Amino acid sequence: MLRNLTGREKVSSVVRLSRKYIIKAEAEKKGKIPILAREHPTVFVSLFSKARIYFWTMTTDSLSKKAQDGTYPGFEKENGSEWKEPFYFIQGADPQFGMIHFYDSSKNAWDEEMRLTRKAIQLINNMKPKPKFFVVCGDLTHDFQGYRHRIAQEKDFINVFKELDEDIPLVCVCGNHEVNDEPIPSTILNYREKFGDDYFSFYCGGVMFIVLNSQYFKNSSMVKDLAKKHEKWLDKQLKEAKSGKYKHVVIFQHIPWFVRKAEERDMPHNLCSGIRTKMLNKFQEAKVKAIFCGHIHLNAGGFYKDLEVVVTSAIGCQLGMDKSGFRVVKVEEDKLSHKYISIDDAPENLNF
Ligand SMILES: [Zn+2]
Repeated sequence: MLRNLTGREKVSSVVRLSRKYIIKAEAEKKGKIPILAREHPTVFVSLFSKARIYFWTMTTDSLSKKAQDGTYPGFEKENGSEWKEPFYFIQGADPQFGMIHFYDSSKNAWDEEMRLTRKAIQLINNMKPKPKFFVVCGDLTHDFQGYRHRIAQEKDFINVFKELDEDIPLVCVCGNHEVNDEPIPSTILNYREKFGDDYFSFYCGGVMFIVLNSQYFKNSSMVKDLAKKHEKWLDKQLKEAKSGKYKHVVIFQHIPWFVRKAEERDMPHNLCSGIRTKMLNKFQEAKVKAIFCGHIHLNAGGFYKDLEVVVTSAIGCQLGMDKSGFRVVKVEEDKLSHKYISIDDAPENLNF
């Protein structure tokens, strides 16, 4: 399924075929790639680093319900702009199938993440009243696009989430493991194909929710045009947010703007200080109340003026002192409140 081309082989042209990009590569070893492309009509080629090229075939597995056309089905503006009553939703991050035993090949690769995710889903399914949705803020699976277990992990993720109550929509947010640390157009298109739009807005119970792809802020060197589109779109959403038509405005993204405070130095775990203050000011001026994130595998966060950045630990592998869990967010007319729930310590019936 996966081959790694090195050295002299190079990508020479890109052609668009139906909704998918196929990169027509001309290897110096004549015939190698064209033959493969003929055998697998949806071969994707990804320039993963300057020295190596990975490519793989698409599978037909994809979420049956996902964000499209800039919104989430059922949560369009006309369906969700009006405030009715308090409600809650679930926010999780980093189930990251495959991370716990990444360095231990003797173990069965991602059984533990599947167990934790299944248990979280069970707890969420039992909640009364039902949460309006379950948003997973990125890093759904561990292997980057083009890596060995990627396809199998995605397949398991999609299968496990079939157990989520069909009245609780799964909203996916794009993380760095979805489109790679240095995304290229094909990794983003591949993500969209399987998990839906990588950025969109939706409306639920009188609240406006904006989903961002934080990789455009982290590293857009290979996807400059897409990043520009994302930014332009975001400005439009923030203009709408500013209109005052909504009880609250909430953002979901993978990498947080900061871990503890807005003035902290640049780290792999936060977004560049060069644009951080500018963006936080933009959000704050647009009346965004909270930004929910993941990526760090521990609970953290803080305030920038009255804007809260909430970092939620992982459903899967932990890198701090927290236990695997998810966050229950209660939305009331005048406030948002949230509580982190440890999956293995939670009572069977979560009452709020
Ligand atoms: Zn991440």
